[in-house]
Amino acid sequence: MVSKIITRFPPEPNGYLHFGHAKSICLNFGLAKKFSGTCNLRLDDTNPEKENKEFVSSIIESVEWLGFDATKNLYYASDYFDFFYEAARLLIKNNLAYVDSQNAEEIKSNRGTLKQPGKNSKFREREITESLELFEKMKLGEFEPGKHVLRAKIDMRSPNINLRDPILYKIRFTTHHRQGNTWCIYPLYDFAHPLSDAIEKVSHSICTLEFEDHRPMYDWVVQSAKKTGLFKNQTLPRQFEFAKLNIENLILSKRKLSEIVDKKIVSGWDDPRMPTLDGAKKRGYVPEGFIKFNHLIGVTKASSNIELSLLEECMRGVLNDNVDRKISVFDPLELIVENVEEDISEKCFVPNHPKYFDRGKREIKFGKRLLIERSDFQVNPQKKFFRLTPGSRVRLKYAYVVECTGYELKDGVVSSVKVKMLKDSKSGTENSDNYKVKGNIHWLNKENAVPCEVVVFEDLFENKYGDDERKKQSEELSLNTKSKIVLKTFVEPSAVDAPNGSKFQFERHGYFILNKDEKNESCSFGKILALKDTWKKC
Ligand code: ATP
Ligand code: MG
Repeated sequence: MVSKIITRFPPEPNGYLHFGHAKSICLNFGLAKKFSGTCNLRLDDTNPEKENKEFVSSIIESVEWLGFDATKNLYYASDYFDFFYEAARLLIKNNLAYVDSQNAEEIKSNRGTLKQPGKNSKFREREITESLELFEKMKLGEFEPGKHVLRAKIDMRSPNINLRDPILYKIRFTTHHRQGNTWCIYPLYDFAHPLSDAIEKVSHSICTLEFEDHRPMYDWVVQSAKKTGLFKNQTLPRQFEFAKLNIENLILSKRKLSEIVDKKIVSGWDDPRMPTLDGAKKRGYVPEGFIKFNHLIGVTKASSNIELSLLEECMRGVLNDNVDRKISVFDPLELIVENVEEDISEKCFVPNHPKYFDRGKREIKFGKRLLIERSDFQVNPQKKFFRLTPGSRVRLKYAYVVECTGYELKDGVVSSVKVKMLKDSKSGTENSDNYKVKGNIHWLNKENAVPCEVVVFEDLFENKYGDDERKKQSEELSLNTKSKIVLKTFVEPSAVDAPNGSKFQFERHGYFILNKDEKNESCSFGKILALKDTWKKC
């Protein structure tokens, strides 16, 4: 019988999840889904110093946000502390582990190097009963940290340093966010992780490549546990490695990201500039974009550095299909329609989506005084400029074709443009096709255009790391002082009437998310992404 696939995603709750974790989530939950198995979300909370409940809830929410069930198979490694302790005692009893009383320096210097074998500790052959007793006293809090440690008894001469009697338990008087002060000894990752996998009957323990050298230790732990009588009649889990996700110029390391948060360089882990999943959500990125991206890049053993533009393109693809269009004018220039009366206001209908008409349409009002983009008018047009110039015709999108009859200057700068509208050219009417114009520009009615702030985000750092992962980890970060720019714009009223968090494409400008304050008294838009720059050519 083919046994069920069980995978797990095991984040340590010492930070928020980042884009790299999304790859691991898609892989682990994706495989389980594909092969009708299950994927556990296991909070790997065995290292209490930097872990807390806030991180736990953000992790659960992020996994759910990506579209996976985070609560159905939710586990905490700290729930296995009793099990780990008993497993450690069994190892001692079976002469597979011992309490070492060397100090940290001695342990380090006796460990040897890549070229030199390590040296056995003088405590290595101490009596099993003595080790058991000491281990119990460690648990009871009778010793200072560093006084003793529990070590696996493997081989101090092993070419793989991870097998030179690695430490299994350390004394740490640290309060655990779930276990309180119950424990003052904590297991190390290389011991707790394989045991947690085996407890949960994980079949495929998938991790990133830096754990490849730890695989022999992983196998030693589960096989030794089995020798002592644990995990009877059970297939032991196996570790598989894959290459981490690296994205050019993005920092995907919780350690570095928490430094950025602690130094208050950003407003928090969920700042829209942070490469965290909460940051992405605030920025307006969509979970389907991450799924698409991870599907596209696939899973390999070879490290590679992916361009951020690929992720952006995935987001754009999803947003393009799923968000309504709205009109905004960033750098307004007044357009006066001479042959329209001051108080006239005429309805024009705009489809909410150019492709999906089932998304409905909305009404905008045409009138005498409009706003267009300053860049849509040139007095002396450059070559291939097909928008408004003196004497030229363009279509005001969803409304009329207009012909430019003049413009006014103030202090040498164009202050308004005058046009005449062609009365039978209205979009959607019979005659509209008779007017062939090359330019098509968007506009707002000056009467009801809503002034609004727009926040545009750029890279947080100026460093261009390229694909040098080590540099990314170690280099001092040089802050980009222009990573958050506030601009002013005008938008059509329906854009600000929408619920908080609504996402739109502002035609010809990009994708934006509406951010309302808690009381709905003020609002602004955050830029999610630019459009692909093709319209600029017309
Ligand atoms: P960081 O280096 O950012 O602290 P981590 O590996 O220490 O990450 P964990 O909480 O241990 O963070 O990660 C949980 C899981 O996510 C692990 O299985 C890890 O292999 C995986 N993971 C972490 N970073 C990446 C990445 N960049 N690409 C793919 N998977 C990742
Ligand atoms: Mg880790």
